[in-house]
Formats: sequence, C-alpha cells, structure tokens
Amino acid sequence: MDMALDYKMSTASASQVWDACLRIIRNDVTVSTFETWFVPIKPVELQENRIKIELPSRFFYEWIDQKHRLLLNRAIKQTLGDEGKLEYTFIDEQPEQRLEKPIDIRIRVPETKFQPKISDFVSNLNAKYTFSNFIKGSGNELAHAAGLAVGNTPIGSSFNPLFIYGGVGLGKTHLLHAIGNRALQTNPALKVLYTSTEEFTIKFIAAIENDTISDFQNYYRGVDVLILDDIQFLIGKEKTQDHFFHSFNSLYHAGKQIIVTSDKPPKDLRGLDERLISRFAMGLTADITPPDYETRLVILNKKADEIGLTVMPEIFDYIASSITSNIRELEGCLLRLLANVSLTSKEIDLALAKRTVHEISTTKKTTISVDLITKVVCEALKIDENKVRDKTRKSEITLARQLAMYLSKELTRNSLKNIGLYFGGRDHSTVIHACSLIARMIEVDGRFRDQVSKIKSQIETVGY
Ligand code: ADP
Ligand code: MG
Repeated sequence: MDMALDYKMSTASASQVWDACLRIIRNDVTVSTFETWFVPIKPVELQENRIKIELPSRFFYEWIDQKHRLLLNRAIKQTLGDEGKLEYTFIDEQPEQRLEKPIDIRIRVPETKFQPKISDFVSNLNAKYTFSNFIKGSGNELAHAAGLAVGNTPIGSSFNPLFIYGGVGLGKTHLLHAIGNRALQTNPALKVLYTSTEEFTIKFIAAIENDTISDFQNYYRGVDVLILDDIQFLIGKEKTQDHFFHSFNSLYHAGKQIIVTSDKPPKDLRGLDERLISRFAMGLTADITPPDYETRLVILNKKADEIGLTVMPEIFDYIASSITSNIRELEGCLLRLLANVSLTSKEIDLALAKRTVHEISTTKKTTISVDLITKVVCEALKIDENKVRDKTRKSEITLARQLAMYLSKELTRNSLKNIGLYFGGRDHSTVIHACSLIARMIEVDGRFRDQVSKIKSQIETVGY
C-alpha cells in the first residue's frame, strides 16, 4: 500500500479522534486550562486504537502527564474504546541550551571557542532569591514550573511572554529573580535584566528630559531576557506604556524572552494599553494564590531552619492558622520571634507567638510607590501633581516636592539617584538636602509633624 496515502489517512482520522477527545476534555477543565494546555496539542498519527499526539515541549509533556493524564486517558477510552491507547511525543528544546553544569564546562574547556562569554551586563538580580529556596506548593505550582522551564531555556522557551500575577507577598519578585539567576546559570553570556516598573518609568522620564531617549531604547532592546516587575504601575502612564510596547515588540520579534508580573490578570489591568494586554495573552499566564495550610507549615519550617530558630509544632500550627494570605508576613513573623527571643533569651511560647501575630496583622503591608506618595502629598497640600516635577521654585510647590522626596526615601526602596530623577531629573544631593530639611522641620514644628504623620498613614492605607 502507498505509504504516503496511508499516512495521510491516518492523520485525517487522528484529528477526528482528537477532536472528539477535545470535546470531552473541554467539559472537564476551565477555559484557560483548555486553551493553555490542550489547544496547542497536535494529533499526529492514529494506528488502530493508538493515537499519537505531539506536545510543544518537554515541559508541556511533564505538566500534562502529571496533571491531566487521567482525564486524557478517560477521553481516549471513551473515543477509541477500552483498548484505546495514547502515545506522546514532544518537540525537544535544543540540547545546547540545556547546559547542565555551567561551572564545570567553564573550568574544563580552556579553549576560548567553546567558553561561554560571561556577560558584564548589570542584571540587577538578587542572588539571594533562587529556585533552591523557593518553596513549591499549592498556589504557585504552575508559576514555579513555567518559571523553571524559562530559566532552563531562556531563549526559545515555550512561554513567551511569561505573565505571572498574584497578591502581595506571594513570591512574584522572588520567582522573577530565581528565573533570572537560573537563566544566567544556563547561559552566562546572556544579558538578563531585572527591573521594577517604577525604575523603568523613572529612567524613561529622565531620558526624555535629558534627551537620551535613543540610548534608553537601545539599552532595553539589547537585552536577551527582560524581567519587568509589577507592571500594574504602568497604568495611567501612556507615554511609558507606548515606549514599553515598542521595546516589547522588538524583543519579542527578535525571539527574546520577556517575563512580567502584575497584581492582577492581564484582562483586569484596566487603563493598560489594549495592545499590551493582547500581547501578554500570546504567552502563558500563571497565577500565584495564597498557600494552603500544609504549604504554610512547610514554609515556616524551612524559614525557621534557615534562621536557626527552634519553634514548637503547636506554635507553628498557631502561626500557620493565623497568617493565611501572605508569605512575607509568615517570614516577618519568624523574624520578629527571633528578635524577641534573642533580646529576652526566653523560649517562644504561645503568648509571645500570639502577640507577634497580632503585631504583624496590624502593621500595614504596603507596596508603596513614588507615584503614590506624590499623589497623596499633592492632594494633602492641594498642589497640582504635574507641577512637582517642574523646575518651579514656588515655595509651596518646593515644599511638596521636598516632602515627597523625603517620604520616597523613607517608604520605598528607591535610590537617592532614582528619586532625584523622578522629580524632574534632579541631582541626588538635592534629595539629600530635601530629606534633611524635612527631618529638621518635623523635629521643630509640631503641626507639620502631625500633618506628615497623617499623610504617611494615608499613604500606607492606600498602598497595598
Ligand atoms: P511579591 O513580589 O509577590 O509581593 P515577594 O517575592 O517579595 O512577593 O515575596 C515576599 C517574601 O516571601 C520574600 O522574602 C520571599 O523570599 C518570600 N517568599 C514568597 N514566596 C516564597 C516561596 N514560595 N518560597 C520561599 N519564600 C517565599
Ligand atoms: Mg514584588
């Protein structure tokens, strides 16, 4: 029999069988699971009662096999009968991108030809955040798996862009650094860049003011892996968004990896350019949700181990039952307990644990941006927000600017340089001057002190 014809017939019926399977599967999974994991599968071949399907990558295969094997088997059996069988193939990533032990290779290969060039590019990565200290558990499974896949295949991964979203303190930033660190381990020559959206915006504003926008563009378009944290801060900044959109496109079309995080899924980012939202939808979207009780216990045990704190199981149980929605707070609680026991050299008892949990839950958990600070300060002082970045030296505007600088230094992790850039490209010494001036005013002027503390608590309530 003609082989080609035979093959053609078998693919035709393979796709019919697969379509029937998809109809069954569709009823059992969410739309996004269906679209993410089942739509990309291709039926390749049908031989008697055995259907072969092709998955886009090894990662895909592992995920499907782990999570959806039962469902798939059931669909196959319903379609092909009890003897129905399923066979997988997947498109493997190129082996040279899966560098197993980069350190060994660097040492053993003296010849420059094969030696990966170590990039001197400044990545802004924090070496403290890695996959080895990222605890996998309920709530972050997909984000972890996809992140690991991208870290291991930083160029040409199946997930581009990778969009990770979730609430505060659930490990988004940790995961981003872990991906970046892993990508560099995989290929030390890569230009991997981690940046917060706030820093990106500040640098953009400065580039406009200093007329260095083309340098700015070249810089961002020259990276291999762009990691942008907290993209929700692009909302309301049309020019920065527009610029990011163009950088995004140029990186994407050059096959470069983009990873972003946000506090909400793309479709809920109201006020973000529709073009960007639809670009995000081209890749994989993974959410991170709060860990369940068991995962919280694992986290507490590991973190306590790391800092050398011994805690009784019932106290862990109390903490894990009380702090439920934020990993940063779990960690914070242990650190406070540690501080307390080292001060008093007493055992950690339930009463202390209760007090500590109470303290944690009443302290505001905040992600505060310079933007937010500026907004609240300007509202409180009744100043037009746009004016604080101007060159004007009108005294009430200058005061608002100085106060916003002072609070930005105190409440955010931005450098003096970045704060200066944000407020109209001013020098870091201007920021230092503003900070000491405001500090002195707070010291000597009771009314001003009250006003500042009111503004501060307002910022902390609005920040989340
Ligand atoms: P987010 O960016 O989502 O607000 P972070 O990444 O800053 O959260 O995480 C807050 C803190 O909790 C960090 O110290 C981080 O190391 C820790 N953390 C979060 N998730 C995990 C995890 N899965 N395993 C270990 N530590 C975690
Ligand atoms: Mg974060």
